[in-house]
Amino acid sequence: SVHRSYEVGATDFITKPINPAILTHRVLYLLRATVALRVVRESEDRLARVQRAARIGSWDWDIQADVLQLSEEARQMFGLAPEEAVIARERFLDLVNPADRNKVATAFADAVHYDEAYSISYRVSRSDGRECVVQELAEPVVDDSGKPVRFCGTVKDVTEREKAETQIRMLAYYDALTGLPNRQQFREQAGQAVTAARRVGTKMALIYLDLDHFKRINDTLGHTQGDMLLRGVSKALTSIVRGTDIVAKVDVETSVSSSLARLGGDEFTIMLTGLSRSESAARVANRIKEALSRPLKLDDREYVVTGSMGIAIYPDDGEDVDILLRNADIAMYAAKEEGRNTYRFFSEEMNARMLERLALESDLRRALERDELVLHFQPLVEALTGKIVALEALVRWQHPQRGLLPPLDFIGIAEETGLIIPLGEWVMRAACGQAVAWREAGFAPMRVSVNVSSRQLTQSDLVTTVKQVLDATRLAGEYLELELTESSLMTDVEATTQTLWGLKETGLSLSVDDFGTGYSSMNYLKRFPLDALKIDRSFVQDLTVDANDAAITKAVIALAKALDLSTVAEGVEEEDQLEFLVDQGCDLIQGFLISRPIPAEEIGPFIESRALPEKPSSA
Ligand code: C2E
Ligand code: MG
Ligand code: MG
Repeated sequence: SVHRSYEVGATDFITKPINPAILTHRVLYLLRATVALRVVRESEDRLARVQRAARIGSWDWDIQADVLQLSEEARQMFGLAPEEAVIARERFLDLVNPADRNKVATAFADAVHYDEAYSISYRVSRSDGRECVVQELAEPVVDDSGKPVRFCGTVKDVTEREKAETQIRMLAYYDALTGLPNRQQFREQAGQAVTAARRVGTKMALIYLDLDHFKRINDTLGHTQGDMLLRGVSKALTSIVRGTDIVAKVDVETSVSSSLARLGGDEFTIMLTGLSRSESAARVANRIKEALSRPLKLDDREYVVTGSMGIAIYPDDGEDVDILLRNADIAMYAAKEEGRNTYRFFSEEMNARMLERLALESDLRRALERDELVLHFQPLVEALTGKIVALEALVRWQHPQRGLLPPLDFIGIAEETGLIIPLGEWVMRAACGQAVAWREAGFAPMRVSVNVSSRQLTQSDLVTTVKQVLDATRLAGEYLELELTESSLMTDVEATTQTLWGLKETGLSLSVDDFGTGYSSMNYLKRFPLDALKIDRSFVQDLTVDANDAAITKAVIALAKALDLSTVAEGVEEEDQLEFLVDQGCDLIQGFLISRPIPAEEIGPFIESRALPEKPSSA
């Protein structure tokens, strides 16, 4: 019966006669054993729960039998079925991503060999196709003699963490639009490259690339297309920088390496390290120019973007990244000034010019306060009668040291710095005030014509300003004319249309300046409330010698007629030109032939001198 009772599940028995003292102890012992068993179960349970919550699994490797026993969490992490809780080590290794398998096998072998704990991370390729990254920590379990018999390991699923870390790194070091290294990463890389170049004694080049007229492209095409264009450009640049043949061929003596980054907007840098000669950088710049000249395809349309590049060389042009970058930027600026779509090496002379520009810029700020600007006026006369109908106000700057400066010397700076807005307002006020003064002095009514820059059109409340100026000077709107360039009209046509109609309410007239040098959409020309086209001086200049210019001038006059606009020929210097223009039916003439731009006080005598020959009594 002892045997039978064990068979059916009894765990203990006592023999009669029962000794009450012993019975009590046995019962107590049994109760304690049950409690202990429950505690173990609970503890196992808790461990499993904690493992699940912490996404930590564990395994136990029996070295002798070469099998691993996996906890439930570990099993799930590796994508194993419940019946695979105990598996051979070979099978376990099969689950490791092939690229990491060797690493894991070596860690196992080394751990046994050196009897040491280890920590590694590796990728697991589960049979369900998912891939996860685990962090594994393992340590040996030794027997009484100190020999390792087993290894206990924990595995943690760090897939999400790795993903987050990668993402953080991407955000901090890469440009989201193009995937290129960003300014931050570029600066770090360039810093290291400078250190390396200093140690090894090689040269390093920074090429600073800025796309030409990108803002205009972006405004015209819209930002989505603009982004696509930037991505296209970045791809083209990547292929240059990656093309090992290109980089290898530029400098035979050393091994040149290159890297590309996007600093922001339409600005990119290409860094070349390990150069022996700076000319190598020019070759890369030429490749870039070539690559950009290939049309980019966006939505079945082709676009060509060009870029201007500036190159600064370590150590010739600077010893640290900031200076190199600044000098490359200055050189890029020089490339822009010299007509764009080209590159320039930095030079000290450029630096001097840039410093001068900066000085001029701060002077210009003061020029407005100190009232150093003056207006000269150039008459516009009727082609047939020679009668003065308008005077164009052209600004000059009476610089205390440099003398009288023409607008070309400072309008560009004023536009870049935004000073053009107060400057433009000053010009308008002064011109309108002058018109009123002439009227009060008894001259026949004439319009004053004022040049308006694109920034005034887009970035200021031009309509309000014009109304205020007319109000303050008490000039009737019909005696004011504004000159706008084609490109400023075409930048943001929606907004421009509205502004132009707002301006027209005051009764002023609008003309397109330098017509033919920019690009216009005929569709908009037709829709804008314009009054006149001013044929650019460059066409008038060679009118009588260049058949093309003659043809263009003819065409512009015909176009203006068709659009019901009048025409003004700018820069007329010779009688022949005047004759041609009269023949073609051009309405107004402006140029040195009639008069140079002259100070306001000379306008009166000029008008009188012209009036003289017509007086029959004076003959
Ligand atoms: P623009 O509006 O096309 O003015 C005509 C320019 O051509 C003037 O140069 C004038 O002196 C010059 N010009 C006139 N007739 C002849 C000629 O027969 N032969 C030659 N070779 N040149 C002639 P300026 O005064 O140096 O002005 C240059 C440009 O500066 C102007 O071109 C205009 O775009 C800009 N500008 C002048 N004043 C202002 C202003 O107050 N505001 C703005 N935003 N721009 C201005
Ligand atoms: Mg003008
Ligand atoms: Mg002009």
